[in-house]
Amino acid sequence: MKLKLISKKRLVSNIKSFTFKPQRPIKWSAGQYLIYSLSHKNDDLRGKMRFFTISSSPFEKNITITTRIFKSASSFKKSLDNLQIGDTIEAKGPDGDFVIENPKKRLIFIAGGIGITPFVSIIRQLSFEKKPINITLLYANKTKSFLFKNGLDETAKIHKEFKIHWFLSPKKIDKRTLGRFTKNKRHIFYVSGPDPMVDEISDILKLLKVKEENIRQDYFSGYKKV
Ligand SMILES: Cc1cc2nc3c(=O)[nH]c(=O)nc-3n(C[C@H](O)[C@H](O)[C@H](O)COP(=O)(O)OP(=O)(O)OC[C@H]3O[C@@H](n4cnc5c(N)ncnc54)[C@H](O)[C@@H]3O)c2cc1C
Repeated sequence: MKLKLISKKRLVSNIKSFTFKPQRPIKWSAGQYLIYSLSHKNDDLRGKMRFFTISSSPFEKNITITTRIFKSASSFKKSLDNLQIGDTIEAKGPDGDFVIENPKKRLIFIAGGIGITPFVSIIRQLSFEKKPINITLLYANKTKSFLFKNGLDETAKIHKEFKIHWFLSPKKIDKRTLGRFTKNKRHIFYVSGPDPMVDEISDILKLLKVKEENIRQDYFSGYKKV
């Protein structure tokens, strides 16, 4: 399917969002992703295709990608950044099972940096549907520029059941922190971020005797550790 760029903006530091209007309406569940293909000249070894979570929520109908654009960005991201309003990109999907099944259960969302994107989509959709947000968000970031901070704080003010804990580096989401949430065996843990972070947190959760079936993972593969 074709998506037409209708807006792009810088959110914080090197993070930008790109919003597209689909050629025909797309149905998706908050937390899912699309596979995008952007033809461009002189593509590098990473090629012309990428996975990106849909950071907008289904009620918004348009598709937003939220991503980091480094100075040394890949050829894909440079050409994404160079798109002009009205330009189009190809996409396939939606796909992915990083979605919530039972909003009545207490969910523990654990985000590393840009890994916040599926959570924001889910939380905003619940808020739009006026459903309770039975979620505790643990959000770790390397800098003070926590993505979507204002919106998340606003939501937490309205929904008293929604709790947020911020972890600014060097503060980490460690075993001690996670241990506070693993005592209740009915909690479901969702972990999203770069591969090493998702693996590290999942290993700690397993050490803390959380059953594998209660851990959901979203690997943002492709970000190298620097
Ligand atoms: C299911 C799924 C969902 C995903 N959702 C998202 C999403 O919502 N948002 C998102 O951004 N990504 C998401 N990703 C990851 C995405 O697909 C890309 O792999 C990732 O963004 C890296 O993009 P890139 O290869 O174009 O490299 P770039 O990000 O352009 O990086 C290019 C180069 O920049 C350099 N670099 C890397 N890190 C740093 C750093 N910290 N400082 C300076 N330079 C650096 C490195 O040399 C790197 O090779 C998702 C992946 C999957 C599988």
